[in-house]
Amino acid sequence: MPLEDISGRIAAAEARAGRPAGSVHLIAVSKVQPDARVEAVLEQGHRCFGENRVQEAAGKWPGFRETFKDIDLHLIGPLQTNKARQAFDLFQSIHSLDRQKLAKTFARLADETGSCPELFIQVNTGEEPQKAGVLPADADKFVQDCVALDLPVKGLMCIPPADEEPSLHFALLAKIAARNGLEGLSMGMSGDFETAIALGATHVRVGSAIFGERTTS
Ligand SMILES: *Cc1c(COP(=O)(O)O)cnc(C)c1O
Repeated sequence: MPLEDISGRIAAAEARAGRPAGSVHLIAVSKVQPDARVEAVLEQGHRCFGENRVQEAAGKWPGFRETFKDIDLHLIGPLQTNKARQAFDLFQSIHSLDRQKLAKTFARLADETGSCPELFIQVNTGEEPQKAGVLPADADKFVQDCVALDLPVKGLMCIPPADEEPSLHFALLAKIAARNGLEGLSMGMSGDFETAIALGATHVRVGSAIFGERTTS
């Protein structure tokens, strides 16, 4: 679907929810997409992209950055502690902060480098064993721990279970964010971003609806 159609659907969803125009950021998820498709979206003027692997992002974005200015890159996949430094150098936002060890590493890197990407804490709203994220019951404490480390926590992120109604998970994430005074909500993908916007999403992560189906995960 053309980028402008997605932008139009986002604008309509903002309006239906009575939210200001432009209050939702569209993160175009370019993981495993052919470079030509990514370049086409860059050429249309879009600058905000998401990747789920550090290695893959390191292979393609420095090249795009030579041609296109002001690229805003978001890490939306799990991060190993030993790749945190590389992630700091590549990404303006990280949506997968989910454990103490990573929080402490970020705090140390922020001290060393004098800056830190904007952070979203991932919450495992469906309490799925195979999925990353802090459990909902542990979220308040973890937010406080991160704030105590002076980390720039922008908000929360979730990936609802594939077989459940996403709105329940979006509503839960919004509730946890509100009671912790966090404004950022990274939620909603190709199939459910309008629902997420109705429930307060500030960042939607849309891949296949923009670029077409991926051939691998
Ligand atoms: C791949 C991915 C997306 C985008 O998924 P689509 O269904 O293609 O829009 C969003 N968020 C995360 C964390 C992802 O890994």
